[in-house]
Amino acid sequence: MRIDVEDLRKSFGSFAALNGVSLTVRPGELLALLGPSGSGKTTLLRAIAGLSSPDEGRIHFHGVDATNLSLRERRVGFVFQQYALFRHMTVFDNIAFGLRVRPRAERPREREIARRVRRLLELVQLQGLDKRFPSQLSGGQRQRVALARALAIEPTVLLLDEPFGALDAKVRKDLRRWLRQIHHETGLTTIFVTHDQEEALELADRVVIMSRGQIDQIGTPSEIYDDPATPFVCEFL
Ligand code: ADP
Repeated sequence: MRIDVEDLRKSFGSFAALNGVSLTVRPGELLALLGPSGSGKTTLLRAIAGLSSPDEGRIHFHGVDATNLSLRERRVGFVFQQYALFRHMTVFDNIAFGLRVRPRAERPREREIARRVRRLLELVQLQGLDKRFPSQLSGGQRQRVALARALAIEPTVLLLDEPFGALDAKVRKDLRRWLRQIHHETGLTTIFVTHDQEEALELADRVVIMSRGQIDQIGTPSEIYDDPATPFVCEFL
């Protein structure tokens, strides 16, 4: 899925969180939004998701204007920083949720839902944990459930907001490997937000560097490393 973001603007009161952002996300790429806290990364991601509407600008999904479509209409899979799992539901029911809330005509049968959930549990290597509740899982396992839940709806795009932010260094490292592998296996256009420069440069096909609601630079990790005029990266070192 190709995504075109055109001159996006969004203010909270008098503060411009997005100040004219334009960007093309290529089909199947793994893109990082990198920048310091408050630079507008989450606001941009939520606008692409359809979780919040911009004041100005357009968003096209595969050439079709999606600016006024909801998250569900865009078929976006979204992973939040703090898992956002349903605490009273089992792992199975959490992953099945997005399928069960579909309108009747589009809802798969329970047998098909069970087949999909099993396949996703294998993908994130959580087989056998389907009857557990989120409180019985580690942070890394919870985030893998969140990832499986986002993938269950067979999204057109996968968006992740600081997906590893709440986890310790070892788990972060494992999950990075996961995300890379899942991206490789699904071929999904994937955008993740991070303020961790190493994470962005290690994982992403291309990195978008943001500050103060604008894009400073877009490039592959090697282009960004090699460009001596990247003030942002220098700031981070
Ligand atoms: P980042 O993800 O880069 O940390 P955000 O996009 O979350 O940045 O936020 C950019 C700025 O917009 C921040 O200064 C934040 O305080 C402000 N902001 C974001 N969401 C809201 C909101 N719902 N209400 C008021 N201010 C907000």
